[in-house]
Amino acid sequence: QAKQNGRNGFCFYEPSMLETLNDRSTLDHDLRDAVSLSQLAMMYQPQFRFGDNQPRRVEALMRWLHPQLGNVSPVEFIPIAETTGQIHSMGQWALEQACKQFLAWREQGLLLEKIAINVSAIQINAGFASRLMASLADMAFDPAWLELEITETAMMSGITEVTRQISLLRNQGVEFSIDDFGTGYSSLSKLKSMPVTVLKIDQSFVRDINDDISDYEIARAIILMAKSLGLTVVAEGVESRAQAAILQRLGCDWGQGFLFSPPLTGDDFLNRYADSALRRPSVIGIE
Ligand code: C2E
Ligand code: MG
Ligand code: MG
Ligand code: MG
Repeated sequence: QAKQNGRNGFCFYEPSMLETLNDRSTLDHDLRDAVSLSQLAMMYQPQFRFGDNQPRRVEALMRWLHPQLGNVSPVEFIPIAETTGQIHSMGQWALEQACKQFLAWREQGLLLEKIAINVSAIQINAGFASRLMASLADMAFDPAWLELEITETAMMSGITEVTRQISLLRNQGVEFSIDDFGTGYSSLSKLKSMPVTVLKIDQSFVRDINDDISDYEIARAIILMAKSLGLTVVAEGVESRAQAAILQRLGCDWGQGFLFSPPLTGDDFLNRYADSALRRPSVIGIE
């Protein structure tokens, strides 16, 4: 029986279930058909400017609806997909799915500045930029609407091809953010040379920002550094008003987390946020 976690619309399986299902090899095996069996889904979590109650940006997050295990966390299945190479087809699917959702929202009047999509460094091989540009063109998707999130550790892996592909896409208007920032080992000089525009403060520093002085100092230092480099800062895992207040006071630009909203389905996102502030002026009622 899968355990429900209502807030995240998400359920974690018990470790014992994994054992009975012969653990990883089963997940690994089942994941092979996840795309073709339509077991993958995307969820969308809004990002807010502190003090603004309309979302302007959104992050797309992948879900695997396993027939026996329920929702398997991407923390579990992304590493498997990276090992088996399936991350390529899954990542391609996620990109198209999320971009199409963004376009569908626009059609329905929900105008957002950007959609952020997570990508693994493994996806970013030699043909990545040209393939992505081709599929954006197919969908008539403006590259300036897209931001790709790469974890700090992947970004700093030193793979020159990754940096090259990122630069190619940056030239086309695609933005890049460093995810889970603070958990890796970026030096200031390295950071300055990376073609990124956004830093996402890892949620581990946000969690105890109110009581843990070192977490507070780390968050403060990240925000200061980002500002001095002209980067935008997003805090992830914002769960309380107290955390939001501190982050806002420290000059953090954007917040994302359960305080504002859990990840939602595309339809729920539209229903929740499609109010006047984001809608195009309606033709109806205009003289
Ligand atoms: P991430 O990109 O750092 O995403 C943030 C994670 O924090 C998400 O977990 C989100 O649901 C969760 N979260 C959001 N608000 C809160 C909050 O207030 N408190 C707490 N405790 N958690 C919050 P999720 O969706 O399980 O994703 C986990 C990780 O899996 C992501 O971390 C990302 O690295 C990876 N991932 C998700 N989707 C994709 C994808 O399409 N492609 C790739 N390559 N990786 C993905
Ligand atoms: Mg992310
Ligand atoms: Mg993160
Ligand atoms: Mg993370």
